[in-house]
Amino acid sequence: YLFGDLSQRDGTGRAEHPALVDGSSGRSLSYGELAAMIDKVAGALAARGVRKGDVVGIFSPNTPFYAVAFHGVLRAGAVATTVNSLYTADELASQLRDSGATVLITISAFLDRAEAATKADGVRVSEIIVLDAAPGHASLSDLLAEGAAPPDVVIDPATDLAVLPYSSGTTGRAKGVMLTHRNLVANIAQICELIEVGSETRVLAVLPFFHIYGMQVTMNAALHVGATVVTMPKFDLPEFLRVIAEHRTDRVYIAPPVAVALAKHPIVDSYDLSPMKVLFSGAAPLDEELAAAVKARLGCTIRQGYGMTEMSPVSHMIPDVREDIAIGTVGLIIPNMECKLIDPATGDEVGTGVPGELLCKGPNVMVGYLNNKEATDSTVDADGYLHTGDVAVIDENGVVSIVDRVKELIKYKGYQVPPAELEALLLTNPLIADAAVIGVIDEEGEEVPKAFVVRQQGADLDEAAVRAFVAERVAPYKKVRVVEFLEAIPKSASGKILRKDLRAREKA
Ligand code: ATP
Ligand code: MG
Repeated sequence: YLFGDLSQRDGTGRAEHPALVDGSSGRSLSYGELAAMIDKVAGALAARGVRKGDVVGIFSPNTPFYAVAFHGVLRAGAVATTVNSLYTADELASQLRDSGATVLITISAFLDRAEAATKADGVRVSEIIVLDAAPGHASLSDLLAEGAAPPDVVIDPATDLAVLPYSSGTTGRAKGVMLTHRNLVANIAQICELIEVGSETRVLAVLPFFHIYGMQVTMNAALHVGATVVTMPKFDLPEFLRVIAEHRTDRVYIAPPVAVALAKHPIVDSYDLSPMKVLFSGAAPLDEELAAAVKARLGCTIRQGYGMTEMSPVSHMIPDVREDIAIGTVGLIIPNMECKLIDPATGDEVGTGVPGELLCKGPNVMVGYLNNKEATDSTVDADGYLHTGDVAVIDENGVVSIVDRVKELIKYKGYQVPPAELEALLLTNPLIADAAVIGVIDEEGEEVPKAFVVRQQGADLDEAAVRAFVAERVAPYKKVRVVEFLEAIPKSASGKILRKDLRAREKA
């Protein structure tokens, strides 16, 4: 168990130091309590027949007990498959079936979906553990009361799987990603080289732990350095602002939709957000102007990182101390990784300033996709480079900017239009609350950019105004040619625009 003795992780050996705090109730778990609970959960799982390599599902919102369950599973030598809290019973069943999970850990509020899923064909789950208790199921208190010692398991970090998270399903069906203990620990070490965190740091964990970003960057990297992690079960703007102010969290990890709210929402001014020193964004493109607006309003340092489930997840970030790197970029390749950009058509490396597909290699790159050798072989090449599917540009200083996904580029008359660039531009309009762009086919059979726009409350804005706003600011081939107004932009739980849902809407 590579996470070692968590009770020593406050850097001073004080087991009383708070490891996790529930942002709603204020209840906290010290490092000593966390370590003791992890051991007992591991023991209880072993007593239930969970052996090294067995898969255990975790289906829960963020709470301090999520960390207990997660590390209890790893401590037992088992593999955690973390499930999206928004999943329906069918989606949950499909992940449990695909991953081969034999035990599921959940909470009482999710029990209906959990029970329905475990009854589905092909699902092998034989026991559901309900952390906060439900009749007929063991609870966390029950597991702890058993007082079983953790099993003696020998882990080979290079080959033994630690987690089986699923990719976000932004472009298609979510894929199970096989990550070893080495993958996880490597990325934590790589990240911690670049961020200024320590036992006095208070991290806000609003990003879901089931997604690799919340799991690794928010939870595991913080626990590794003995910081305090303040959990929130879901994003809710007033509650988010209250928790930052009340729990004085100085390091806040977000995805770009939260930055949009922080830049634009009037209620932000009613809270004292001065405790927040660093706001770190990842998972989707963060626009430079939007980031500047947040910085001007709140005065915090803003940093960006890039990664994917397949890289445990980070490959690029702007180090805390690098004031000179533009916030609209994703910064530099992290230590112990290599990257290059290629022309996807020829496979040849492209030069600085030329867009190409980003390829990355390092100890944090996945072993492969679960049950999908074909997808693995087309993603990780013979030299160990992971083909990210993202188009990027690198400058002469090695600073990388993400353009968009290769497959999402809109091809207009031989030109390539990145939808992310138009989305960022639209967001600079004060009358626009949110926006998304996809390619649609016009009457001439040409793929053209279509914008979906959410108006700012009370804003007087029509299609012609939106088209004119973009046309005045971009090269003619990038013009938005169709506009539709929506109440909200569809987004995933990890904060990504679901352009595939907008495309499906077009077809319907
Ligand atoms: P799926 O692979 O199932 O379609 P997904 O790619 O969204 O879903 P994740 O692994 O959660 O699943 O996300 C990785 C992707 O997120 C990257 O490939 C990239 O497209 C996007 N991404 C992550 N960070 C950034 C960033 N800072 N800027 C732009 N895009 C980002
Ligand atoms: Mg992906």
